[in-house]
Amino acid sequence: MQIRFWGVRGTIPTPGPETTRVGGNTSCVEVITSDQQRIIIDAGSGIRLLGKKLQNESSSRIVSTILISHTHWDHIQGFPFFLPVFGRTNRIVLVGQKRVDRRLEEILAGQFIEPYLPYAYKSLPADLLVKEVQDGETLILGDQTKVQVAELNHPGGSLGFRIENEGAVFAYCSDVGHDDGLDENVLKLAQGADLLIHDSHFGTMEERNRYPDWGHSIWLEAAQVAIEAGVRNLGLFHYSPDLTDEQVEAILEKTREIFPRTILAREGLEVSLPLGADLPD
Ligand SMILES: [Zn+2]
Ligand SMILES: [Zn+2]
Repeated sequence: MQIRFWGVRGTIPTPGPETTRVGGNTSCVEVITSDQQRIIIDAGSGIRLLGKKLQNESSSRIVSTILISHTHWDHIQGFPFFLPVFGRTNRIVLVGQKRVDRRLEEILAGQFIEPYLPYAYKSLPADLLVKEVQDGETLILGDQTKVQVAELNHPGGSLGFRIENEGAVFAYCSDVGHDDGLDENVLKLAQGADLLIHDSHFGTMEERNRYPDWGHSIWLEAAQVAIEAGVRNLGLFHYSPDLTDEQVEAILEKTREIFPRTILAREGLEVSLPLGADLPD
């Protein structure tokens, strides 16, 4: 399984000289399975460049599944700028939370209305299929890939995913806060994973305690989950827009003191699971 990070930032894109090494685009991760299926997790601003790459590389139809953890803006804001939605022959399956109050398709389409955007969701030429899922569901993609879905502790809810493909396990828990003890569903999804991507929004404990309702974690909690769930490797992710490269890199060092096999999800980083002995910086 190949993993590539196209957006690693939380809340809002943060371009600028202080974020060039870690990256400023919001959540988007590309997963290529052993049978060459493409799964995209989240459609933050990072998905724009992924869309350009797909458009440039593909001579025929683009088919992909986008797993949407939740519809907070930093996880869907890139979708209107994902070039494959403009290709008549492309097929995109959007998978996200089933809610009682509103349909997922309606929420996604809500980004495409005047005066925010000059084109409507209904006018997109690609074949878009929306699938709503809930806690505990398992999706089978192709012959060799299983995706387990669980609801995480986050305002309005957020889905975490566990992708299993040919013996490799990738867990994605982007937006989650731990209140009384560690979130059980995160532990379940992460159990024994080759790589767990975990919310590492806050830089300091003081900040984490000041905003307990935000539904986010500090790197320390990510490390605690990694230990408790027995993961092989931990990837820090969804950094606060206030954190500079220097601060995020300092967080990596601190996390490695507790959980040595930790990496930083950086924009552009590509890893192959299972990870080798040497970790990327
Ligand atoms: Zn977020
Ligand atoms: Zn969120």
